[in-house]
Amino acid sequence: MWSTMQDFPLTITTIMRYGADVFGDAEVSTWTGDGARRRTYAEVGERAARLAGALRGLGVDGDQRVATFMWNNTEHLEAYLAIPSMGAVLHTLNLRLFPDQLVYIANHAEDQVVIVDGSLIPLLAPVLPQLTTVRHVIVVGAGDTAPLDAAGKELHDYEELLAAAPATFAWPEIDERSAAAMCYTSGTTGNPKGVVYSHRSAYLHSMATCTGNAIGLSASDVVLPVVPMFHANAWGLPYAAIMAGAALVMPDRFMQAEPLVRLLETERPTVAGAVPTIWADVLRHTKEHGSDLSSLRLVPCGGSAVPAALMRGFDEIGVRIVQAWGMTETSPVASVAHPPAKAAGEDAWKARISQGRVLAGLEMRVVGDGDVVLPNDGEAVGEVEIRGPWITGSYHLDEDPAKFHDGWLRTGDVGTLSSDGFLTLTDRAKDVIKSGGEWISSVELENHLMAHPDIVEAAVVGVPDDRWQERPLASVVVRDGASVTAAELREFLAGRIAKWQLPERWAFIAEVPKTSVGKFDKKVLRRRYADGELEVRREG
Ligand code: ADP
Repeated sequence: MWSTMQDFPLTITTIMRYGADVFGDAEVSTWTGDGARRRTYAEVGERAARLAGALRGLGVDGDQRVATFMWNNTEHLEAYLAIPSMGAVLHTLNLRLFPDQLVYIANHAEDQVVIVDGSLIPLLAPVLPQLTTVRHVIVVGAGDTAPLDAAGKELHDYEELLAAAPATFAWPEIDERSAAAMCYTSGTTGNPKGVVYSHRSAYLHSMATCTGNAIGLSASDVVLPVVPMFHANAWGLPYAAIMAGAALVMPDRFMQAEPLVRLLETERPTVAGAVPTIWADVLRHTKEHGSDLSSLRLVPCGGSAVPAALMRGFDEIGVRIVQAWGMTETSPVASVAHPPAKAAGEDAWKARISQGRVLAGLEMRVVGDGDVVLPNDGEAVGEVEIRGPWITGSYHLDEDPAKFHDGWLRTGDVGTLSSDGFLTLTDRAKDVIKSGGEWISSVELENHLMAHPDIVEAAVVGVPDDRWQERPLASVVVRDGASVTAAELREFLAGRIAKWQLPERWAFIAEVPKTSVGKFDKKVLRRRYADGELEVRREG
């Protein structure tokens, strides 16, 4: 036997302790709409101990689930630390789900406790009676709790519970492979699926996020997770920030462009993560008002393809967007698009508009028909598969063998891998447009359309066609005050994509419908088209 290193577990408890001990002065600020309220990591560590003690007092034991129904704020961070560190499992509930999905998810996870923000009581109250396993509801901040009464659960005030609990907690020894947190995917098909993160996976994912090939966090950073903490752990930013000793700025419920920009100008974060739709709004607002985003050194962006026009727009105001790819099942950060040192001009852009290179620790491949592994030649298009220590191995109490293949996760994303490791997605499998046997990339079409100066948003879906089986329908949102015709847009696309890919169906709409996490909801567009609700113009 070799004598090697100590067997020291990789847990969220160690991240919490490290942050509170070594970076005790680092601050977590939460925006109130009018300034920020602040706590230090040392205070957050103590409050996490109090929360764990309080939850234990309510009977939370073993790996029971404690749910949060919360905005991004300090109290949510305390729950992020306390619940896994006491050995229980944090279950972040998505505020924007339909009520029946919320009921399904909370019951499927068998949540025992829900920690709810006072401002969200009106959303929770109607479904609470149906949350059969929930025994306790803990209310954070002000809010009328009367609507919760009828559900017959025990109600508590968060601050009162914390004040009554001891300032320290005997954090248990935790097996790094045990469950720490869970998150359900939005469930575009069938029921939502539960992804369970282990302590080890969260730890390794946080370390990977801190590396330079991801977002290179350090104690000099101030990190603003705009992406909700109920959406794939806010991309792992909270744990990564604590591990790096970086300060955190939390937007609470203020996620619209105007208050966000005020927050950016006041709290001056260096790194801020959000989906492209949010950054598009922020950019418009910034250009109109001459706002100051100069504190930002890096803006990680993902969740859907980041339009090149958006990145160029940010470049113009001196802010760097870096595209990242991932999914709830991948913790979520799996690849990040930093151009190689030697790449310049168009080569650098090619790298930046790709989904990037896989992070160290993970492996990626592209698989074609008959599960044949395709070459990494930048040409062969297939489904992306991924494996590694922060990739889900199966869903919670829900066999879905079709999603797994020889120890790899089938991502449902379609694209190519280049010989130097860049992933370029052309579509999600369910959005692929197959025209006369050839694939048309909706992502590519959208990217080109959104580069048109008069187009604010563009979403392309496949619709049935007698001759070609399927053809692209482009739904576009035109900038206020501008006017542009389908013929002009076809003309604009003509030099950029093959002629047979040019859409001949066009819909001019007021806004692209969005999912609960701000992605283009193509399901809704397809349904509107099928129901004849879209006014479609033919051109070409
Ligand atoms: P859902 O969108 O189904 O709610 P997730 O939030 O987990 O689930 O999103 C994961 C999906 O988002 C990926 O499979 C991929 O299709 C898409 N996605 C994430 N990042 C990017 C990106 N940078 N470019 C293109 N698509 C992306």
